[in-house]
Amino acid sequence: MNIDWNTDIYCLIGNPVSKSLSPRIHNYIFEFNNKNCIYLAFKVEDRDFKAIINSFKALNIKGFNVTIPYKIKIMDHLDEIEKEARLLGAVNTVKNVNGKLIGYNTDGLGFARSLTEEGIKIEDRNFLILGAGGASHAISTKLAIEGAKKIVILNRTIKKAEVLGKNIKDKFENTQVTWDSLDNVVKYLDSDIVVNCTSAGMYPNEDISPIDSTILNEDTVIYDIIYKPIETKFLKDAKRNKLKTIGGISMLINQAILSQQIWLNDVENYSKNFKKIEGFLDSNVEDIVNKLL
Ligand code: NAP
Repeated sequence: MNIDWNTDIYCLIGNPVSKSLSPRIHNYIFEFNNKNCIYLAFKVEDRDFKAIINSFKALNIKGFNVTIPYKIKIMDHLDEIEKEARLLGAVNTVKNVNGKLIGYNTDGLGFARSLTEEGIKIEDRNFLILGAGGASHAISTKLAIEGAKKIVILNRTIKKAEVLGKNIKDKFENTQVTWDSLDNVVKYLDSDIVVNCTSAGMYPNEDISPIDSTILNEDTVIYDIIYKPIETKFLKDAKRNKLKTIGGISMLINQAILSQQIWLNDVENYSKNFKKIEGFLDSNVEDIVNKLL
């Protein structure tokens, strides 16, 4: 990496950011595409939030990602918000166009692309979503945007599933939306695809699963969006029972690539190298994740 006066700066803001994979992934993609750009991670305290966003304009930071707990708060500090981000109610990618900050959300599209890569279509399929936090919000809404037939949202705290379910139901009348407690999972075993959007099974609680995957039908696809560890207990158990499984890394990588496409306006080049970038990151990511644990 040759850093000089002309290097464009991109970054992540959130709290905490110390275990984030984003700097490693983004800097690799910049280097791969021969871009004179660097990506950093900043831990931002709530009291400094506004000053930091203003300083990004002053310093001409070209773009940034936003993570927990600021994906909603950032929306009050932007000049424009793209349609899908408005529908998802959160922004995770911001582009600075001559001092004008434009917000996007790549969470839903990153997830949808990872399904497409596995040959799984969303339209007319039945989804069982576990969890009702930020990631579930983006994924469930994206599934409705893409024409899913039915979405069942199960959560430990049922009230949160209800708020999210009603929100989607109000906006998308062609998708059936139901919500319930995670404890009632046995009522919903006819789903085509189960997506774990809870943090149950995430490092350091690697010995737990959101539900017992052995109760699921053999043709159900199991997607766990957790990427620390690469293979969760939920996925391991499902694999042992011969179910098709997908891990959270591909969504993460897809999101990073989509952010850079937005920032650099270079869809053609990025699309051309998409598979190569993904291939490299896939084979190195275990090492990157393990170093961060
Ligand atoms: P969040 O907003 O904090 O939501 C956490 C969700 O997990 C809530 O629904 C919570 O239920 C549930 N939960 C937590 N512990 C649980 C347990 N022991 N049993 C059952 N449910 C439990 O977090 P988030 O941002 O949505 O992220 C969720 C997970 O997705 C994290 O592991 C994160 O790393 C991962 N993620 C991955 C990607 C990717 O690119 N692959 C992107 C975003 C997030 P309650 O409402 O009852 O508390």
